[in-house]
Amino acid sequence: MSFSTLVLVALMAAPRVGDPAPRRELPKDLESAPWDELYVDQCKEKLAAAGMTEHFFFSSKNELEARKLRRHPTIYCHAPQATIWTYGPTGVRYYGYSKFNCAMSLAMTRFEKIAQELAHEIFETKRETPITAIRHLGTHNCRRLRQKPDKQSQHSFGNAIDLASVYIRGVGEVDMLKHWHTKMPYLKKRQEFLHRLVDRLREEQVFTNILDPTWDSAHDNHLHMDLAVLSDGLPSPALARVQAMPASTAAADAPAGGGTTAKGDAAAHE
Ligand SMILES: [Zn+2]
Repeated sequence: MSFSTLVLVALMAAPRVGDPAPRRELPKDLESAPWDELYVDQCKEKLAAAGMTEHFFFSSKNELEARKLRRHPTIYCHAPQATIWTYGPTGVRYYGYSKFNCAMSLAMTRFEKIAQELAHEIFETKRETPITAIRHLGTHNCRRLRQKPDKQSQHSFGNAIDLASVYIRGVGEVDMLKHWHTKMPYLKKRQEFLHRLVDRLREEQVFTNILDPTWDSAHDNHLHMDLAVLSDGLPSPALARVQAMPASTAAADAPAGGGTTAKGDAAAHE
């Protein structure tokens, strides 16, 4: 192994959380940025208070993407204070490239806590945090809505996740496509988990929009969850909640495990 390879391996083995990239300038032809309301003051401190102290890093790229499409105005994409996750605060492994803006990261810490509580209750697991992994179909992606091409997707801002399944220790994979509509009696608990999870996330205003398979056939195989701002440009109740999250552990309702239970796999950072 060459010296440069050794250095590379060493760097990858010890990802540093670092600091969020600075706030972006507005593109020339925009009066306001669609991602402006997604900024979170004291982002790093709030994530730490929510249990995110390792197994993620702040992307230093801070890139702004402009995408031109025929017959439509140019769209601009940017994920403010972008984070790249390999594990969440309760030790959940995220398969695939998982990039969220800071506000969405904070919402995901709330999501994990609720999902773990429910899984523990419904499947009567010994562990309080039985969910070990999450598979998704995408987080950050500069694009328009597939069904309404005049609107920009929240994925453009790292402000959404398309959740496909969760892995629960002692249970197996609980999958949106296979289990949301299942009629098999032995799979009913998996269905109950998915339905109650959506109910809880809506009740507790964890996300602005939650689109499940009852929404349309494009959502048969995943749960779309985002933190969109309201149509008048103001933060949604869910977005206001994460922006108001505490920046110190003393005041935080930190998830069990506090980010120390996960086993790191920095090589999976992409
Ligand atoms: Zn989506």
